[in-house]
Amino acid sequence: MFKTVGVIGAGQMGHGIALVSALKGVEIRMLDASEEALEAGLEKIRESLSRQERKGLVSQADADAALKRIETATDYAVFKDCDMVIEAASENEEVKRDIFKKLTPHLKAAAMLASNTSSISITRLAASTDRPAQFCGCHFMNPVPAVKLVELIRGLATAEETFEAFRDFAHGLDKTIAVSEDFPGFIVNRILLPMINEAIYTLYEGVGTVTAIDTAMKLGTKHPLGPLELADFIGLDTCLAILGVLHGDLADSKYRPCPLLVKYVEAGWLGVKTGRGFYDYSQDVPRPTR
Ligand code: NAD
Repeated sequence: MFKTVGVIGAGQMGHGIALVSALKGVEIRMLDASEEALEAGLEKIRESLSRQERKGLVSQADADAALKRIETATDYAVFKDCDMVIEAASENEEVKRDIFKKLTPHLKAAAMLASNTSSISITRLAASTDRPAQFCGCHFMNPVPAVKLVELIRGLATAEETFEAFRDFAHGLDKTIAVSEDFPGFIVNRILLPMINEAIYTLYEGVGTVTAIDTAMKLGTKHPLGPLELADFIGLDTCLAILGVLHGDLADSKYRPCPLLVKYVEAGWLGVKTGRGFYDYSQDVPRPTR
């Protein structure tokens, strides 16, 4: 189990990875591009810990200790003592490559690297670093504290020792792993995103309303969330980015992102994280936006 872990990106996924790891005694160094993003991530961690305390899932002492283990920074020098650094910044290959370029000069020689990418080639990301054998895909699910699964993806150059270290890390966080080969979207998003995209086409073509589509899929197929609710929860920018990778890397028109999804992202309606997507989250009960 890694003792000191760096997390890059304090958004929905980064703060969740930091939280579950800190609760298991791991020392965390969390970096984001801005102090505001770090403060927002820390606030989400505090809220989540209070929720878990209220439900009796953690004691106040454990919650306080976890919070103390999380150090935040905007300077990459903070990663100098890390055994592993996981990148969980926006789903954009250029952004991720740039992060690894800035990160690697600060790392110990033995430090391992991971990306939480939903879809981008682990082999390509690993090849952009100075240590492809020490790089692994480690795909946590949202929300990290509640969802059991971690998808592990070996890049072409990933050493067995590296894979085993990440498997042990995931097991140490009480997660169950599913191993995927390094193909666009891996397992979960190769299957999930075409369904979400089809739900958006169903809305775009007027086959059903937001409510009808989500009700149909929840009650008709026993999904806990409707596909449009789920898209809002993932983030519509992230959904569009994943579809872009599937469409580009697999070169198959069946992954063409629905123009309505593109429009929502262009409007800045990114779902829960911006307060509006296929639903409006300004009231207690979310209301469909069309
Ligand atoms: P998010 O938009 O909530 O957070 C992204 C964070 O990255 C933001 O805080 C942003 O400030 C930060 N960031 C952007 N550029 C940066 C840079 N150059 N340096 C440092 N920080 C930077 O996104 P998210 O939902 O947390 O997704 C993060 C990653 O996890 C993506 O690769 C995404 O595909 C993946 N992922 C997302 C989900 C999901 O359901 N949202 C699930 C699994 C994996």
